[in-house]
Amino acid sequence: MHTVTMSGLPKHFFVMAAVLLASAVPGAGQAAGEWPLPDAEAQRRSVDLVRETWKNEYAAATDQARQSDLAGKLIKNAEITRGGAPACFALLNEAVDLAAKAGDLRTAMRAVDEMEWRFRVHGTQTRLQAIRTIARGTGLPPSLVAEAIFAAQQAIEQNEVDAAVEFCDLAVETARKGASSELKASVDEYASRVKEYARLQKSAAKESPVGGLGAGLGMGKKWEIFGDGVGIMTRSRGRRKAVLARYGGTGQTERAVTGALIWLANHQMADGSWNLQKYTSRCKDGTCTGPGMVTADAGATAMGLLPFLAAGHTHKTKGPYRENIAAGVNWLIKHQEANGNLAKNCVQPMYSHGLATIALCEAYGMSGDRNVGMAAQGAVNYIIKAQNPNDGGWRYNPGDVGDTSVTGWQIMALKSAQLAGLSVGGSTYGSAGKWLDSCQKGPNNSLYSYQPATGHSNTMTASGLLCRQYLGAKRKDPMMTDGVKYLLDNLPDAQLPNIYYWYHGTQVLFNMGGQPWDQWNRRMRQILLDSQCRDTRTCACGSWNPAGDLWASRGGRLMMTSLAALTLEVYYRYLPLYKVDEEKAP
Ligand SMILES: [Zn+2]
Repeated sequence: MHTVTMSGLPKHFFVMAAVLLASAVPGAGQAAGEWPLPDAEAQRRSVDLVRETWKNEYAAATDQARQSDLAGKLIKNAEITRGGAPACFALLNEAVDLAAKAGDLRTAMRAVDEMEWRFRVHGTQTRLQAIRTIARGTGLPPSLVAEAIFAAQQAIEQNEVDAAVEFCDLAVETARKGASSELKASVDEYASRVKEYARLQKSAAKESPVGGLGAGLGMGKKWEIFGDGVGIMTRSRGRRKAVLARYGGTGQTERAVTGALIWLANHQMADGSWNLQKYTSRCKDGTCTGPGMVTADAGATAMGLLPFLAAGHTHKTKGPYRENIAAGVNWLIKHQEANGNLAKNCVQPMYSHGLATIALCEAYGMSGDRNVGMAAQGAVNYIIKAQNPNDGGWRYNPGDVGDTSVTGWQIMALKSAQLAGLSVGGSTYGSAGKWLDSCQKGPNNSLYSYQPATGHSNTMTASGLLCRQYLGAKRKDPMMTDGVKYLLDNLPDAQLPNIYYWYHGTQVLFNMGGQPWDQWNRRMRQILLDSQCRDTRTCACGSWNPAGDLWASRGGRLMMTSLAALTLEVYYRYLPLYKVDEEKAP
């Protein structure tokens, strides 16, 4: 049992502050959300002030429930404090400590999230401290094992693999004490993946300390260009199940995904590739209408691979699709040119190259296969060289004046590379932001156009906003708030299918979370469930008909099916970029 007194002043407070301080980057503009940390003296004064101001509440917080309540109040107060950065930081730090003493992990994590939100800090060490305190005191309540797993995920995103392993150990230990056998198995599986990942990251970093593969592992500060991170560790089977319902997936959406994977596997070419037109040669009957119009074999192969990878399958994991994935990945690597280009002989090759790069980065990130990693790094380097040096964008061929559509896929590819621990170069993102600047319009620059002189559209707005999120835009940025409004004014409409818009819009709103995501997701998943071909007697079973779609007529049934499946896999494909306040613990 913990009580809070003056002597209970968090011993780790100053240590923690020093750790945070060391990783702080003073923001040039010091806009809210990018505050540099106050110095130690200012922090000390602010803590004293907080304790003086809240004297009565501290005195009354004699049991865990009240400590937890007080922690919540301090967090709330941090949002509205007029005391500036020092007061805000002190309130949040006190909240972490109180919540940890109260055994209230969720509130403690919320305070750390808030800290990361307002200050340019990584909260991994603070999370670790809080979680250790709770484990030492009350032990982690089994219902909150998931929080420890989330913390592990965040640590991975911040490239702190040792901390991630420690989070996992705590989660495993806690789960053993009283969780269901199902949860125990999930946690064990996740923990062993994290350990394997940590091992791979370390050995990759050791083997190539400068440049090349693994150079991204030691990036540290460079991570900040991404704002909060997303990870691909959510995809392990147990984890997938655990996050599905949390983010709005259902048994029905999972069955739809399974159907799509089976259709994709059935329509793979004998050489391991997928083909936008020739997939019909694999058909058993004439129901798979809608072949695409363009030749883009690398892009098509990526479209074939990505839904498998999104569901956690790789060429190294045991499972029904292992051979399919191995053949597809090998096909991409075999057709890569010495300069890294994956899209030889493709129409508008940078589209295909971007997609294929995403597939290779994901395959590498999930499997740790160095062969795949080398190919992925080559493909990433090619993207970096292909950027237009003046406008910061990409288009069909390397060096072209940009467009928002192709630029979007390159930014996504670079993001995937970064998540996989590959090196993505320093200035590429800054310049890509320049392209987005040139195409932004409307209220608070929340709308995007294909090129600077054209008008905004749904699809480009969704793609532009997603890129902005990847480049570090904050959740509360007015651009995002207005962008969300626009997307909600243009909800998916079954009468106007536009899978390109749906796919991007889904990711933007998934990252934002909360009510807007709920509203969009309910509509989106119903439309996709209703429109999937589900007659098991037909070859088309599991696919989506591209007829009438604004964009997929060019890519055909394969593209339609791939993007629809990926849209239904959003619940576990990545973690949302922004962690929204969770509902109260059960
Ligand atoms: Zn067919």
